[in-house]
Amino acid sequence: MAIKTISLLGSTGSIGQSALDVIASHPDSFQLVAMAAGGRADTLIEQAIRFRPQVVAIYQEHLREYVASRLAPFGIQVLAGEAGVVQVASWESCQMVLSAIVGAAGLRPTLAAIRANKDVALANKECLVSAGELFMAEVARHQSCLVPVDSEHNAIFQVWQGYAGGERLILTASGGPFRGWSSEQLAAVTPKQALCHPNWSMGNKITIDSATLMNKGLEVIEAHWLFGVPWQNIDVVVHPESIIHSMVAHPDGSVLAQMGVPDMRTPIAVALAWPLRVATNVPTLDLTRLGKLTFLPVPDQKDFPCLHLAYQALAAGGGTTAVLNAANEVAVAAFLQERISFTAIAQVIQTTLEKVVPAKPVDIESIFEIDHQARHCAMSQVALHNP
Ligand code: NAD
Ligand code: MG
Repeated sequence: MAIKTISLLGSTGSIGQSALDVIASHPDSFQLVAMAAGGRADTLIEQAIRFRPQVVAIYQEHLREYVASRLAPFGIQVLAGEAGVVQVASWESCQMVLSAIVGAAGLRPTLAAIRANKDVALANKECLVSAGELFMAEVARHQSCLVPVDSEHNAIFQVWQGYAGGERLILTASGGPFRGWSSEQLAAVTPKQALCHPNWSMGNKITIDSATLMNKGLEVIEAHWLFGVPWQNIDVVVHPESIIHSMVAHPDGSVLAQMGVPDMRTPIAVALAWPLRVATNVPTLDLTRLGKLTFLPVPDQKDFPCLHLAYQALAAGGGTTAVLNAANEVAVAAFLQERISFTAIAQVIQTTLEKVVPAKPVDIESIFEIDHQARHCAMSQVALHNP
């Protein structure tokens, strides 16, 4: 394949580092021309020295001078702040942007990439949760090539033959580390326990989202916008081995699934190389060694309310999913700082959803207003839990 030039947003994160592994394995297929990260300046500097992009951006403005002084001998341009990240997302010489910033912070840069007519490999699910309708309208307007990186959506993307009306999406969920735990046990969960995911190694926020099952809720919303399937046709099944990454059930009885060893380098490689394929260092799936695959219904919503809250927000429509996303970001951060309990995450989100009832967003700025209002409300809920 001809060399594809890549801009990587969120290079220091879990997805970012896996993406660099894929890029490094294929110097004839991929060239990293731009990269951005939030903080962790030393990691970003090391990555830049290794991959020699034309430009890097660091979100935290106060780190700009330090990064610039370290990268000056290499002739690498250094930008900072959200404006710098947006410039990296729309960098002239890049063809594809891998959007792997965590949270709604990824929305503006990802939109900038779409508006600059870049192909987009999308890991950042929060931008679809916050702004799905407006986001997909921009994708359609610019006829962007949008390839999902989230493993479930990447799986569906690979087997997708279009929505004729009766198809059902079946998203698989590992069930997280607390499947089968009682309400009392869940109330006492510590951040350290919640950060140990059984199958996937991921960033902190998504690891907590996986433990509460909010991750699957965000993914239901993400799937709705990516594939245009109504929420009533999107199911979740617990599949503890995480080998089947998701399925499409057709009305004729056929169920198409994509399988593989749980390693994000596979969906990242699929997205970066699309429509071609490249090899990865991911081990080949050996089904005889696995022996069996198991499937279970999702746990009771009494113990894991977040999935249900996400379905409710999606059904309510408008800006409600932006409220859900913002409240979740605040609640997860508060849990990681040990300011609220594990079970209070869902309570903070539920109360925020009750208190912030947004008007239908008309543009991206109105999404940011809703996001701001919901964060403010969620923070006051956190303060009530921990005065
Ligand atoms: P992470 O926390 O490990 O990394 C996040 C990256 O975003 C870091 O490089 C950080 O510096 C950067 N960042 C944060 N705020 C920023 C800002 N304002 N501007 C620029 N950069 C900023 O997160 P992750 O686990 O790699 O996840 C990234 C995204 O991919 C999330 O949306 C997550 O839901 C999604 N995702 C992750 C996985 C996974 O396996 N990790 C799987 C599927 C989807
Ligand atoms: Mg996923």
